[in-house]
Amino acid sequence: MPMDYEAVIGLEVHAQMLTESKIFCGCSTKFGAPPNTQTCQICIGMPGVLPVLNRKALEFAVRTGLATNCTISQYSRFARKNYFYPDLPKGYQISQYELPICEHGHIDIIADGERKRIGITRIHMEEDAGKNIHEGNGSYSFVDLNRAGVPLMEIVSEPDIRTPKEASEYMRKLRGLLRSLGVCDGNMEQGSLRCDANVSIRPVGSTGLGVKVEMKNINSFRFVEKALEYEIKRQLRTLEEGGKIVQETRLWDPSSGKTQSMRTKEEAHDYRYFPEPDLVPLVADREWIDDIQASLPELPDAKRERFISDYALSEYDAELLISERATADWFEETVKAGGPPKAAANWMIGDLTRLLNEENRTIEECPMRPVRLAEMIRLIEEGIISGKIAKTVFEEMYRTGKDAEQIVKEKGLTQISDSGELEKTVEEIVAKHPKEVGRFRGGDEKLIGFFVGQVMKATRGKANPQMVNELLRKKLAE
Ligand code: ADP
Ligand code: ZN
Ligand code: MG
Repeated sequence: MPMDYEAVIGLEVHAQMLTESKIFCGCSTKFGAPPNTQTCQICIGMPGVLPVLNRKALEFAVRTGLATNCTISQYSRFARKNYFYPDLPKGYQISQYELPICEHGHIDIIADGERKRIGITRIHMEEDAGKNIHEGNGSYSFVDLNRAGVPLMEIVSEPDIRTPKEASEYMRKLRGLLRSLGVCDGNMEQGSLRCDANVSIRPVGSTGLGVKVEMKNINSFRFVEKALEYEIKRQLRTLEEGGKIVQETRLWDPSSGKTQSMRTKEEAHDYRYFPEPDLVPLVADREWIDDIQASLPELPDAKRERFISDYALSEYDAELLISERATADWFEETVKAGGPPKAAANWMIGDLTRLLNEENRTIEECPMRPVRLAEMIRLIEEGIISGKIAKTVFEEMYRTGKDAEQIVKEKGLTQISDSGELEKTVEEIVAKHPKEVGRFRGGDEKLIGFFVGQVMKATRGKANPQMVNELLRKKLAE
């Protein structure tokens, strides 16, 4: 990005709510059923039927609003958004327009090590559409209406995001929040969480907004970043070449890594929004909202603050650990089992995350129990194994589920802290390298690293490094 331009980004995130039935009828929301087996007169849009709001969907939207610091509207209502498409049998989508259920909230993210607040403009409820399936090389299409009427929340951010990285951080934070609230499973592959990314560019220092481009249906953190990076570059290039940005909807194609114009952007008036006459307006009952507020779990931000104050973790470590409730729970179990917080956090953020990622596992699928980590850290602290050997032990615990002590015994990994035994090795190494000894004694102090390395190699990493260091220095000073 040239110094004098910045990107302005706003995300519209669609989250499928974890209700058992659809938003306006009793059909199941389960994923993966044979096409059109989860449908009824209401969700396939037969004339003369009436929708009834799923109370759970409303509760989930309110939960989300409260957890994102929104104001819950005293009075809200549904609206019809009219458009024509084969996956929308009624010819309109029931959504919310001028009176959404939640407004004026915010979410904090950590971007570049700094805390940053992203405004939430609104959260509204709406129904999902069905799905078109194209086959025969485009010669015919099917429509599956199982998804029609599945409850969604659309969470619209203010254009407060400035970089692709911030955008993916925001999505991560939001996903963790929705999951901890139990309102969305956050499964991006199945489309339970997807986003439309809006982006424009402007000269740094200007406060106005440039013409924006919207990219539809992005379903991974990586794609959000990639799509935005591509689009920002494309817009810059367009301006450099003397062109103009047109307001349009572009499709992100993950296989080519490019965006492609889909259509020029429709305006709200194209949808001929009007209040939904088949549903009564919603009047929020103060007591009901207070009950929901009281039932909220500890939210990620509160948890982060608690982790910082109770466990003396850095803001960065705390943020990583609270991003998923299961991760935070795993950490706290380790601490409860006697693991020192800072060391536990380091092992989790480093080695554990790496091993889980290698196999694409979530922390819920972690084959190792937190108590095992706590036990292993104790062995390090007691000097029984070195930090280096611990890496091997950790991986072995992860692969086999055995405890650290057993692994250390079976593999003979106990750290050599016997000074007699170490002294012998040190003497051998020193005797073997007279040239290096000469250089060291001549003032090349850096060579201590070489000698330590040789001793470690000779003991297959099992020597207590601190003792090796002391013994070597003594020996070399002779
Ligand atoms: P639309 O009417 O096209 O849906 P909205 O004003 O509702 O536009 O905004 C949709 C999303 O786009 C929001 O997340 C908002 O923050 C973001 N947005 C709005 N204007 C801009 C802009 N000029 N540049 C980048 N993002 C924008
Ligand atoms: Zn139905
Ligand atoms: Mg909009």
